Amino acid sequence: MARKIYSTKVVELGGQVQDFIAAAKMIIMFEESMTLPELRDACVMHTGNHLEDMIKPGDIYKIGNAEFKIIKVGSEVQKNLMNLGHITVKFDGGASELLEGSLLVEEKPIPDIKPGDELAIYKAEEKVADGSWLGLKGKTAIVTGAASGIGKAVAQAFLDNGANVVVCDLNPNEPNFELHEDSGKVKYVITNVTDADSVNAMVKTAIDTFGKIDILVNNAGINIPCLLIDPKDPYGKYELNDKVYDKVTGVNIKGVYLVAQAIGHEMVKSGGGVIINMSSESGLEGSEGQSIYAATKNAVNSFTRSWAKELGKYNIRVVGMAPGIMEATGLRTLAYEEALAYTRGITVEDLRKGYSSTKTTPLGRSGKLSEVANAVVFLASDRASYIHGVTYNVAGGKTRG
Ligand code: NAD
Repeated sequence: MARKIYSTKVVELGGQVQDFIAAAKMIIMFEESMTLPELRDACVMHTGNHLEDMIKPGDIYKIGNAEFKIIKVGSEVQKNLMNLGHITVKFDGGASELLEGSLLVEEKPIPDIKPGDELAIYKAEEKVADGSWLGLKGKTAIVTGAASGIGKAVAQAFLDNGANVVVCDLNPNEPNFELHEDSGKVKYVITNVTDADSVNAMVKTAIDTFGKIDILVNNAGINIPCLLIDPKDPYGKYELNDKVYDKVTGVNIKGVYLVAQAIGHEMVKSGGGVIINMSSESGLEGSEGQSIYAATKNAVNSFTRSWAKELGKYNIRVVGMAPGIMEATGLRTLAYEEALAYTRGITVEDLRKGYSSTKTTPLGRSGKLSEVANAVVFLASDRASYIHGVTYNVAGGKTRG
């Protein structure tokens, strides 16, 4: 059952209510223009107040038996007042809170209401979710790098929670997902996150397919272990070079910004969204043999903090996720393990022992991909609605301090 955040009773109907407009705290307007007589007939007066910060676009306004989706809250609504039909809802109290209480609701016929009817506002996520705690049903998520590993697990978790998912990846082979009756829909789009044209084409396909984008998980990433300096090897096989630098920064930094910018534009247009940037525990702590990778992940952490400051005003939340050592994904190839072991002066066997050592990870095991996916769907949901500009470790307690 949806959580009711406000309710009151209609106490008066009709044109006289218009006289109170100067002292009203909340004005509910419909997109379609209405003639004045219709407008007067629609005037409703309520008692009560205390709504300001609780309501947001998407919440449900219910009056009598009619439901309206709230599409805008706040002072901008006032600017449309002269051009649009509206219902005036009068609350006791002064006119000073008029702007904060203004709502624009979706276009619908004015309900047949009478004094004594209930007016109530319900939180959107619970209303839309049909009882699901996360309220992701019907939302659209884009997950980059989701043909494999963590991204694939994240895409599956969104589908399981009823969200539609645009899975994008360089991989030409479409991955399989488990779908059931209540799953969201999936659309696979081959995308190179380092190429703006490819990213823009993917965003267009997403909008054409699902209408809007609510969530972005900026997950695509690569890791090429190497040392800054390797005095033991005159050929510098495992030394950082321009090619490795360009490749790793290209996917892990440029790719993250290109996708966030293209989707950010859409989120601003549609009134908000959530961006989750996939970082790494190494980005917070640094990592022997992975300095360029760790540097890109620290750059991602910085994107998260800075974009939170820039995008909060557009109702876009930005959160970072920093996994530690996870069960094997496409990243953990033998070549990767050999390179990392070399840079640390240990054997591949020793490296593997570290995956489940309490010395490396206090919980004594590597993480399951579903454990990152669970955290991501939570952070993407309105359950995490005040979490913004911060990166979370999902790393079993692993630090390198
Ligand atoms: P993975 O290799 O299994 O998945 C990465 C996916 O990204 C692949 O499917 C790959 O095809 C795709 N990709 C690579 N370049 C791309 C591009 N230019 N455009 C589009 N897609 C591209 O690796 P993973 O372990 O699942 O990693 C996912 C994310 O999690 C990465 O950002 C990684 O840095 C991060 N991470 C992983 C771990 C771990 O232990 N696996 C730990 C911390 C952080």
